Amino acid sequence: MEAPPAFRTEPYADFSLPDNRQRMERALGEVRAQFGREYELLLGGERVRTADKLISRNPSRPDEVVGAHQKATPELASRAVESAYSYFPEWSRTPAETRAAMLLRAAEILRRRKAEFNAWLTYEAGKTWPEAEADVSEAIDFCDYYAREMLRLGGVHPMLHLPGERDELVYLPLGVGVVIPPWNFPLAILVGMVTAALVTGNTVVLKPSSDTPTIAAKFVEVLIEAGFPEPSFCFLTGAGSAIGDVLVQHPKARFIAFTGSKEVGLRINELAARPQPGQIWIKRVIAEMGGKDAIIVDREADLDRAVDGVLASAFGYQGQKCSACSRAIVDARIYDEFLSRLAAKTERLKVGPAEDPANYMGPVINESARRSILNYIEAGKGEGRLLTGGGPAEGPGYFIQPTIIADVKPEARIFQEEIFGPVLAVTKARDFDEALEMANNSEYGLTGAVFTNNREKIEQARERFFVGNLYVNRKCTGAMVGAHPFGGFNMSGTDSKAGGPDYLLLFLQAKAIGEKL
Ligand code: NAP
Repeated sequence: MEAPPAFRTEPYADFSLPDNRQRMERALGEVRAQFGREYELLLGGERVRTADKLISRNPSRPDEVVGAHQKATPELASRAVESAYSYFPEWSRTPAETRAAMLLRAAEILRRRKAEFNAWLTYEAGKTWPEAEADVSEAIDFCDYYAREMLRLGGVHPMLHLPGERDELVYLPLGVGVVIPPWNFPLAILVGMVTAALVTGNTVVLKPSSDTPTIAAKFVEVLIEAGFPEPSFCFLTGAGSAIGDVLVQHPKARFIAFTGSKEVGLRINELAARPQPGQIWIKRVIAEMGGKDAIIVDREADLDRAVDGVLASAFGYQGQKCSACSRAIVDARIYDEFLSRLAAKTERLKVGPAEDPANYMGPVINESARRSILNYIEAGKGEGRLLTGGGPAEGPGYFIQPTIIADVKPEARIFQEEIFGPVLAVTKARDFDEALEMANNSEYGLTGAVFTNNREKIEQARERFFVGNLYVNRKCTGAMVGAHPFGGFNMSGTDSKAGGPDYLLLFLQAKAIGEKL
């Protein structure tokens, strides 16, 4: 195949333009007309229904059913791994160029169906228009980027040739990958993990989140249209608690690519480490987990810029990003001024149904998330001073007010535990040194940001702020494929650096060949 042009990130649609608004409104109408449809499992090319159904709802209006899905049993989960295993020899021999071409086609199809995917994300995941647009754009970027990466890694790599020898290295796929994504980037993260596994020549069992199975089913349509053979991947909806262990422990599963909570990630890591009867390899686990991300606002910062950065990082997508800022650590000298500007802007944020573009925040994902976040807010009221928000917001959905709790001590629960909602803990620091210490006082290490105009402090943060993704004078969310390879330290995961040049190597094993001439 002809080499594709250099990678560029997918531009975002500007919804202030009438054409783009109309396209999005039309898509919302068309997608709404498909509400309630039933989707099947896909196992070795065969469509399968189960007696039990998994119902996916619109978190902005929980009485609306977005899609009805199958609830796979442990037997079906086992069958999925077996069927992916039996197709592996064939798929692994497909030339890298052929697989990369399929992935470039998948990017094109997503581009064509962008407004439609935006609408599915709005309805099923509660994403506002710009958040949905960013998610779908990132999914396109992953396809485009990994296709190019596979072309770089495919083929034979010449090594140092010893005298009288030809010495080479080739990258081989691993086998069956169990791919388990979360609901919060229901398209981008799912697409990133699935396509990385497929383009490198592995077969896949995809178990999507039970909160966002329809978006996953729609992407399955894209894979098929792009030319990926149906047996190269299985689509397996069902409760993680019922089928997760079977998938992870299956002796024919070769690796697990997981993104989600710390608790589930650690469990997967532990189970995968135990060899099962008949298993002849050490399973590889790629696990990206939670965060408790901090932004440091220094006394030498541009305050308005810092306020906007903290606001977007804390409350964009209702704070449900692993990269969301849930801790602001602010220099004592500007603390009060910063808080009053941040509170004033936060109070103006509108919360309501995600499909209404007037709303800055939509709902949180489901009733159990709503309850857990409200419990944290109640606990937080005892751990600091409630500045704004502090409870549910009005409406039929799972709406919560953007909440800021000030004067929080570093040992407080709301400073240490991932809440995964629109709750920001603010802490006062004596100086930059103490701020860095507080920021690193966490079991997580995913993203972080520093606002300061002092070069020396920027250098200190580069050296000492222990996070996988550090940002300077900008928000701590919104990693871009190709520019900010993404993954965290410590309990945030295995630092897989999705969207970067190291990522596909996690799905490959290298074979060195030395031939005497
Ligand atoms: P989760 O509850 O851990 O679920 C993630 C996935 O794991 C879902 O597909 C879930 O299926 C499945 N699962 C549940 N129990 C399982 C088990 N015993 N074995 C195997 N799989 C199982 O996380 P979430 O609520 O979807 O996502 C939010 C979390 O993801 C947050 O902690 C966030 O920080 C993290 N996250 C991290 C990153 C990153 O790159 N570091 C990115 C995004 C999100 P069911 O839905 O059926 O339960």
